[in-house]
Amino acid sequence: MKDRVYNFSAGPSQLPEEVLREAADEMLNYKGTGMSVMEMSHRSKAFQDIIDHASDTFRELMHIPDDYEILFLQGGASQQFSAIPLNLMNGSGKADYIITGQWAKKAFNEAKRYGDARAVASSEDKTYSYIPKVKKEDFREDADYVYICANNTIYGTRFKPDEIPDTGDIPLVADFSSLILSEPFDISKFGVIYAGAQKNMGPAGVVVAAIRKDLIGNAREDTPTMLNWKTQADAGSLYNTPPTYGIYICGKVFDWVKENGGVEGMCEINKKKAGMLYDFLDNSKMFKGTVVPEDRSLMNVPFVIGDEELEKKFVKEAEEAGLVNLKGHRTVGGMRASIYNAMPVEGVQALIDFMQKFEEENIDQLEK
Ligand SMILES: *Cc1c(COP(=O)(O)O)cnc(C)c1O
Repeated sequence: MKDRVYNFSAGPSQLPEEVLREAADEMLNYKGTGMSVMEMSHRSKAFQDIIDHASDTFRELMHIPDDYEILFLQGGASQQFSAIPLNLMNGSGKADYIITGQWAKKAFNEAKRYGDARAVASSEDKTYSYIPKVKKEDFREDADYVYICANNTIYGTRFKPDEIPDTGDIPLVADFSSLILSEPFDISKFGVIYAGAQKNMGPAGVVVAAIRKDLIGNAREDTPTMLNWKTQADAGSLYNTPPTYGIYICGKVFDWVKENGGVEGMCEINKKKAGMLYDFLDNSKMFKGTVVPEDRSLMNVPFVIGDEELEKKFVKEAEEAGLVNLKGHRTVGGMRASIYNAMPVEGVQALIDFMQKFEEENIDQLEK
């Protein structure tokens, strides 16, 4: 059997090996229940303990204040692109979006179906390679909410924790899918944060959200029951059968984060990993990063050679060396290394060593 590889996929992505082993050990008989978590009633005490533990640990790790509800939702992050306007576009019907990539744009296009969504700023002019600067005055005073995508998985930019736009009293909604649990953020600056699990928490399908309680309960009349946050909040995320196994794995990943220094500990390692890779890119004669240095993501690192044949060769040979899923997104080309929490420092070092070797072997083929 093939050994485990270093998986640089943007998502679903690598999970901590300890978590997978523990889940394997508990597969047939979870804590003496005689069954797998997959086979367990979501109304059982054993599952209630699982979801409570996951919720409490998430709150602790993210320092989420008491006036926020934590919800486990379904439908992926994309489902929330609709749920957000349905739940929040209930005052002026206006919402301001900052367009920093495809995910923000998809969310924006969805909001336009329900009301007056406006793009306040966009970095589309330069293939989303930077974060546009926005001032408080740029937002409409009566907007129901302002929306950002905190980390742009495809393009590799992020809003840094100290550069979150100041929206005053307007609730700020943020897609945290690809940076959740990777560095500390002051959650009280946000009205809503949400994240699809498959980047940094667990299996695809589950979405974890923290929503300020006063923003729950004002959904538009025509909101489908399942998309109304109040339905889910009132039922403790158990209105219908939730993605039970996914929530269980998320809980284990939260425990793993806690055992490894919490979000603060993750952040320290993530800065080290990203720093190693960006340093290499900045000094390489063959590879270069595609994002302005000040807005670089700690999680997704796109880079190019600028020669399609060599890029293809790189991705293929990397895969043969056990470094997989390095092909860039189809809209950017080149390569992308996603280095989420579960990617160890050794994995990033192995990638850098491989890049160095590839550069030495192929530099003469690069026409400059
Ligand atoms: C992956 C991703 C999504 C889409 O997630 P789904 O669970 O597939 O809907 C949305 N936003 C961001 C930032 C992502 O990285």
